[in-house]
Amino acid sequence: MKIVDIRHITVPIQSDMANAFINFSKMDVSVLAIVTDEVRDGRTVIGYGFNSNGRYAQPGILSHRIIPRVLDSEPDTLVDPETGHLDPGLIWTASMRDEKPGGHGDRAVAVGILDMASWDLAAKLAGISVQQLIAERSPAGIGTANKKVWVYAAGGYYYPDRGIDALQDEMKRYLAMGYRTVKMKIGGASLADDIRRIEAVLSILPDGATLAVDANGRFDTEQAVEYARALEQLPLHWYEEPTDPLDYEALGIVAENYTGVLATGENLLSRHEATNLIRYGGLRSDRDVLQMDSALSYGFTEYQRTLSMLTGYGWDAARCVPHGGHQFNLAIAAGCGLGGSESYPGIFEPFGGFADGDEVQDGFITLPDVPGIGLEEKSSLAPVLAQLGNSN
Ligand SMILES: [Mg+2]
Repeated sequence: MKIVDIRHITVPIQSDMANAFINFSKMDVSVLAIVTDEVRDGRTVIGYGFNSNGRYAQPGILSHRIIPRVLDSEPDTLVDPETGHLDPGLIWTASMRDEKPGGHGDRAVAVGILDMASWDLAAKLAGISVQQLIAERSPAGIGTANKKVWVYAAGGYYYPDRGIDALQDEMKRYLAMGYRTVKMKIGGASLADDIRRIEAVLSILPDGATLAVDANGRFDTEQAVEYARALEQLPLHWYEEPTDPLDYEALGIVAENYTGVLATGENLLSRHEATNLIRYGGLRSDRDVLQMDSALSYGFTEYQRTLSMLTGYGWDAARCVPHGGHQFNLAIAAGCGLGGSESYPGIFEPFGGFADGDEVQDGFITLPDVPGIGLEEKSSLAPVLAQLGNSN
């Protein structure tokens, strides 16, 4: 078995929304296919991957560095000698040849795209779901993948010409879809305005439903602490990314001033950055939430090493709830027993969201049980994948 081609395209995500830091009108995504010479039931076996939202497409790094290294590798060096199947870890190692330590940035995104496709491919070759493959084969796996995963609805962006009524209506829609926790942006307005927006959402939540807020790394230390003191008076699920993602000292100061739950990690692109967060960020392993996103940070091949690091520092995998709202992180959550996965209902289409017919019930979603990640089970995504080659 060997890889015969690796193709990629750049696809826009059109949206007029904004968080405290960026607007998404120019955001795009790389979609990649690993094409093999393996045929199953008359169809060529292809693994697909893409990058998570919040970072841009990576056509340059993929074309000039990552993909040629894999295609130039001797086929035997990419295959698990025991199973004869292509091995995501070996493909990952080939893709990182001649790269120095450090310098993560966009390279981590590009490798994450390839790695998602590698795991999709590996699961298809094994004939099982990627969550079960991860549960069985990864050192971070739990043996048998969870059938359901907790998800929360992330939205509440700042839109031009949308007021508090529209924000409340958006959150009511998420609740009607079965979510029990919703999330909204803060930091794009004044503290007083943000508190009014938060209280407006809290006022429409039924018993048992909760609200998280996300500042997207917008605040300096003083502002983050000012918000922390105000937010502590409110019953929030968590306060997300108050300060710059790499300013661990500032985060530690916020932690000293906030007894509620803090969440962060979506903008850390390697396990080394995650290690520094745990060492120096002042986070508390009994309550805080870690949101590293495999599809932005060297893929699951790296994420399982991050989970091992966390275990070494006394953190439980259940404290991890990855950013991204895509099916791969959902599968990782099921295979590694994570606390849950983010969800963006109706946003970042067609890459956000889950397989057709998957419905959220009381805050949990059931995963598709098909070979691979199940990306083809999403009718809005399937035509994008088909642009890279049909599995027939
Ligand atoms: Mg966030």
